Amino acid sequence: MRGQAILERSRGIPNYINGFMRVLEAEGAEIVPTVAANKGPGGFSSWLTTECFDKYSYEIADALKAAGRLDGVLLALHGAMAVTGVPRPEAELVRRVRKAVGDIPIMVTLDLHANEDQEMADAADAVFILKTYPHVDSQETGEIAARCMVETVRGNFKPAMACRRPGIISASIYQASEYHPMKDIYDRCREWEKKPGVYCVSVAPGYAYADVVDAGMSVFVVTNNDRALAEEIAQDMSDFAWSLRESFAEPLPGAEEATKMAMQLAAEGKGPVVIADGADRIGDSTHMLKELLRQGAKNWGIPGITDPKAAAWLEENAKVGDTVTVKIGGWYDENSGEPVEVTGKVSFMGRPIYKLIGPMGKGATVRDAFIATIDLGDNRHVVVSQRMRGANDSAGFTAAGIDYTKLDIIVLKDRVHHRAYWDSVAKVDIRTSVPGQGPSDLSLLHYENIPEDIYPVGKKWRK
Ligand SMILES: [Zn+2]
Repeated sequence: MRGQAILERSRGIPNYINGFMRVLEAEGAEIVPTVAANKGPGGFSSWLTTECFDKYSYEIADALKAAGRLDGVLLALHGAMAVTGVPRPEAELVRRVRKAVGDIPIMVTLDLHANEDQEMADAADAVFILKTYPHVDSQETGEIAARCMVETVRGNFKPAMACRRPGIISASIYQASEYHPMKDIYDRCREWEKKPGVYCVSVAPGYAYADVVDAGMSVFVVTNNDRALAEEIAQDMSDFAWSLRESFAEPLPGAEEATKMAMQLAAEGKGPVVIADGADRIGDSTHMLKELLRQGAKNWGIPGITDPKAAAWLEENAKVGDTVTVKIGGWYDENSGEPVEVTGKVSFMGRPIYKLIGPMGKGATVRDAFIATIDLGDNRHVVVSQRMRGANDSAGFTAAGIDYTKLDIIVLKDRVHHRAYWDSVAKVDIRTSVPGQGPSDLSLLHYENIPEDIYPVGKKWRK
């Protein structure tokens, strides 16, 4: 996306760009939008080619150069980009922008899944990172960055920044901002931010499913012209995070145990229970489905088992009301488990279009590819879907013809984002360690590029 279209698309949507716009427009600044490009999120992404990175980074730099005299540059980045042949691509992007615009402030916003280090701190004048996962403060983070920019351009503020790397890499499922250990970390950030002269204290737990040289947690502190204070706070936050490192690698139940726990809780009237099968990035994993069937659980729903072939077969050969027997899931790789044969009545078929109702993406329209809901009896429901299909709020169930209010066990192929909605419905959220492309147990992954001393899976820590 190029030019004004970027602003038009973001207006009124709670994202970084809208945060920039709200502050800059109120201050009467002229905004020169350049280029917006993204890959994903959702499902699976992969390494970008050097050519792809070059194309967009130079296009951004050239557009800025062509914009005439600028007072500053705001970059809304993510931070977990992985590029073949370009280590630390976000820092490289900032350096390319710097070359184009010269010595004016460059400020960067990042997702908390960012993998960054000192190179970013050296390249940019200020870095601001989300503090919520589920991510609900993108606009606020954009506003924080834009306000800093305005005050800096006016000469009222002089950003001084410090960066630390605590040396921890963690699976996303351990990073929910409202729970230990990230809650403790963000509470401490906010405490520090009350101190005069401290503008913003950020901690990104990072993204463990990118095998890059700067994978893992980072701390960025921005003060008003007080480098020593920034260094002191960054060190304190880094030490504090390190003291909590074991909480980022706490053992979690597997599929068998999670199912047992959920059934027990349901039997005690402590349902509904959400089971977060966060490792499944394709949606085809059958480990949870298999256990629910094997242990005879009742009153459960899975809003999506991705299986394009089974979905196509159902569309071709079945109609609502038919009883079908079909093998589903377990086709992507050895982590996904075996295909599971299910027999039940088709209760819904189609390509529903619906709006999200939860705090994450509220009002956004979802257009499902083909889905078929199979009612297995005993109030057990599984949706076979052509594409990866989640349900970060109940709309994903309702659209598939499932009454989520009658379920005891809700299995979601998600890590944390679902909690923005489901924590208000379910009494318990069970995090799991189930095989998959993004396992919570990082020792199952083969890393080649992450720092050797990073806890708990750098070379130094491996037996
Ligand atoms: Zn994120």
